[in-house]
Amino acid sequence: NSKLSNRVNEMATSATLAMAAKTRELKEQGIDIIGLSLGEPDFTIPEFVKQAAIQAVEDNYHAYTPVDGYGELKQAIITKFKRDNNLTYSPSQIVVSTGAKQSLANLAMVLLNEGDEVLLPAPYWVSYGDISKLAGGVPVEIKSSIENDFKITAADLEAAITPKTKMMIYSSPCNPSGSVYSKEELRALADVLVKYPDIIVISDEIYEHINFVGKHTSIAEFDDMYDRTVVVNGVSKAYSMTGWRIGYIGGPDWIARACNKMQGQITSGANCIAQRATITALENPPSKIQFMVDAFKERRTLILNLLSEIPGIKTNEPEGAFYVFPDISSYFGKTLKGMKIANASDFSLFLLEKANVATVTGEAFGDPNCIRISYAASEANIKEALKRIKEALTS
Ligand code: PLP
Repeated sequence: NSKLSNRVNEMATSATLAMAAKTRELKEQGIDIIGLSLGEPDFTIPEFVKQAAIQAVEDNYHAYTPVDGYGELKQAIITKFKRDNNLTYSPSQIVVSTGAKQSLANLAMVLLNEGDEVLLPAPYWVSYGDISKLAGGVPVEIKSSIENDFKITAADLEAAITPKTKMMIYSSPCNPSGSVYSKEELRALADVLVKYPDIIVISDEIYEHINFVGKHTSIAEFDDMYDRTVVVNGVSKAYSMTGWRIGYIGGPDWIARACNKMQGQITSGANCIAQRATITALENPPSKIQFMVDAFKERRTLILNLLSEIPGIKTNEPEGAFYVFPDISSYFGKTLKGMKIANASDFSLFLLEKANVATVTGEAFGDPNCIRISYAASEANIKEALKRIKEALTS
């Protein structure tokens, strides 16, 4: 639409949200779709968090909060960073936002100038590219593959750096691949980055607790990376609070100040009741949410076993988050049930129409050979979905 800005016309619609909308539409038509497209835990929020929100309403929290978050919430975030990550921050280094998505958008808006390059180890979370572009940045993908568990190496990183590189954004545990960078792997990347002190690292750790291989490492824990890394986190995934919209950053003072300024002109800060509930969520130890992590781990085993029974689908073992990212490229060029499969988007559409299972094409995540399947769903739904996929692909 020419009446709209170039900014929005050039922006892609979030592929995951588009798939969710399509799923809803088909469900409304009475079609029984199993949605494995959204990255949303199917648990309800923990009772202690719910009670804190009710208490906040009773206590008449209603007014604008400080733009960068309540002081008590910043303190809870500081305690959480120290407890879980051994990272030390002062209140001026913390900014609370309307979801980690806004934290990322703030960072892109305050750090990027026109033409600045943003390194995105692929596959990457859908929004990194479009958020960067919105702020004038140029996404630069760094390819990986299922053979190396979708992780980039130090050499891959070094080869992608140019004089225009301004920042790198990645998630570990990763959405969409579930990959978790070990401490040694992060150190190898850091050894490259120390040679380029102007590059800012945005470490998205929103899946921190959903990790099946041991202790989470943040690249900010390395002394030589602390001053140039911004850690992004939030309560959406770990506390099943996606709709509450609270995310936050810890990072260099000068960047946090700029995010505060940006947010002051755009949202005036995050919702007051959700902020009060988040104080309670973060003050409780991660052991309180371990039951969800255990459930995700069991479902990962289930879905990997079921996928292994389907011919032509290549998987690796994701180490965290709640996604599998199988390579389905062996189906490219085939015609199934009258539908031509030329790429991952066709494959995902085939699953939606012929198996009535919603997934997301890997193209949206910078990997055209794969699709993303979320296993943040009940065991019954996972079993039924995989049965349908198997039938559609083998009959
Ligand atoms: N970062 C990653 C890697 C995600 O997967 C998501 C949500 O899907 C977000 C950030 C956004 O989280 P929030 O709900 O806090 O905006």
